[in-house]
Formats: sequence, structure tokens, C-alpha cells
Amino acid sequence: MILKKAAPIEQKPLELEDLPIPQPGPKQIRVKISACGVCHTELDEIEGRLQAKLPIILGHEIVGRVESLGSEAAKYKLGDRVGIAWINSACGKCYFCREGNENLCAEFQGTGCHANGGYGEYTVVSEDFAYSIPARFSDSEAAPLLCAGAIGYRALKLANLQDGQTLGLFGFGASAHIVIQTAKNKYPNCKVFVFTRPQQKEHQNLARKLGADWVGATGDTPPEKPACAIDFTPAWKPVVEAMRVLEKGGRLVINAIRKEESDKETLLKLDYPAHLWLEKEIKSVANITKTDAEDFLPLAAEIPIVPEVQEFDLEEANEALILLKQGKIQGAGVLKMSR
Ligand SMILES: [Zn+2]
Ligand SMILES: [Zn+2]
Repeated sequence: MILKKAAPIEQKPLELEDLPIPQPGPKQIRVKISACGVCHTELDEIEGRLQAKLPIILGHEIVGRVESLGSEAAKYKLGDRVGIAWINSACGKCYFCREGNENLCAEFQGTGCHANGGYGEYTVVSEDFAYSIPARFSDSEAAPLLCAGAIGYRALKLANLQDGQTLGLFGFGASAHIVIQTAKNKYPNCKVFVFTRPQQKEHQNLARKLGADWVGATGDTPPEKPACAIDFTPAWKPVVEAMRVLEKGGRLVINAIRKEESDKETLLKLDYPAHLWLEKEIKSVANITKTDAEDFLPLAAEIPIVPEVQEFDLEEANEALILLKQGKIQGAGVLKMSR
């Protein structure tokens, strides 16, 4: 399913096309894809808010099996099950790469953005940027762990939550429903408060099912002030609301590549005494590092995370993304290459 030109998703711009099977370079592997998660970032790429190198095969939550090895590739065997995430390559030499923050490298390449991704049958990737998938997950269950899960894990690390504190989650889609499971496992004495749009009753029910201690609408005042919060939404109102309800010294981590520009003027109204005074801070999270993926996948198996997935055929990619845009996917959407 290839994207040739940015357009609103309602125009169904992804087209099914037959392409030659890609050949791996010396340090690359070719992966026969079985599942690929559907992410909000793809909507940004399709609708032109995030510039992808066109034409492009989108998709950065890829699960498949190693089908061909480049001449110098030695990390995996044929048939191994691997995952590929948003980080496709980085220079490996700059200050950020040396510090293990290759997500901040100036030469960072994104899967399904600068390099072809997973909305297809095959892809190639450097063996260093492929990860073993723990046996307990099905292909579909593993897919959302690679972006929604791993970035949520990074956001949770950056939030600096301490056991016994309260964590606020704004938005409850693919990433948040995994973060709540991680938080509840790693910090058993923490409370988790979940804020959604008022009409998102199904998201609220899922949050309760997964152990949320309080569930409300963005704009509600929770029973106590969260010490930290993570915003998973593409909107501005949750940023303001999170800052309003945060405890003194609290930190908000924004887990979103792009925020919608259209409502910024009306909704991003930060008032210094109400939203920032008393050492409150805002931090963003920029995708993931190799280490995040390598640490999170075994942790997800150990907890174990139970990803809620809604499957679609590859040919239904446009429809799946329309549902995602409308907030109608429960948990995470996943494209299956052969059903
Ligand atoms: Zn993503
Ligand atoms: Zn670098």
C-alpha cells in the first residue's frame, strides 16, 4: 500500500501496487512481513503534516520473519522472528549516538518515512535495527509494542515517576493502554488517572478494565494532583489541562510527533501562575532509541503486557487509518499481510 502524494485520509490515498521484492544490502536483512501496526504518525505523513520521502511504503511497527541475509549480516538466522520500529538508522558517530540517544541524531532515518516500511509484504533493514520478538506474543500483539509500546515506555522513563506517586494519562489509545500496564507493574503503589475526550466511553471502559484508579474527561479535576503526566493526544487542550492539574514540581511529557496546528490559537493558552509556576515542566519525547526497544520487548513479555488489537487486511489500510483518525480503534490497529 504505497503513498505517492499527501492527501486527506478520507480520499484514501494509499494505493495497492505490486513492487519488486527488495534486496538486502551487505549488513541488511530482508523481512517477510506478517503484521504491521497502524500509528497516528502515518496520518501525519499521509496528510502532509510530517514530510515523508515520497513515494513511500508507510508503517513502522513491523513484525515478520528473516527471509534473506545480506553478505555481511550475522545477527539473525533465516526464519527468526524480528520486529522493526520507527528508528531505521542513525550515524552511530555523533554526540547523541555515542550517548545512546540516536533518536536525536541529525542523520536519523525513520522507517516508513525516509525508508520503506511495513505496509507491504517485504522490507529490508539494517540488522542492528531489528529486534527479537519474545515468543509469548502473536505477530499482531507484538506489532504495537514496537511504537506505541516502546515510545510509551520511553515517555514513562522521561516522566520520572516514583513508586507511590500518581500518574496522569491524557488520551487512551494504543500507547496509553500499554503504558498503564507497564506503570501498574513497575510501580505497584502508584495510582493512574486517565483523561479522555468525554464521548470516548469505550476508551474509558478499557482504562477501568486495565486498572485505572480514576477515569474522567480532559478538563475534569481529579481527586488528587498527579506528580507527572503523559499526553498521548494530537491536541492542545490536554497540554493546558495537564499543566493545570499537575502537582508542584510536576512534569508533563508530550508523547506526540505532531500537534494539530488548527486549534493552537484557541486552545494553547498557558497562564504562567496557573500552569507553569511552582517548578512545573514540559518535556517532549522524540521516538525511540535502540535500547528502548531492546529493553522494552523482554519487559513487555515479563509483565506480561496484553495488547488489545483490532486486525485489518493490508488492503484495508485506508479504512483502518480513517477509524484511527476518528478515535474508533480499541487498543491498537494492526494490518495483517495474509489472513
Ligand atoms: Zn508510531
Ligand atoms: Zn548520530
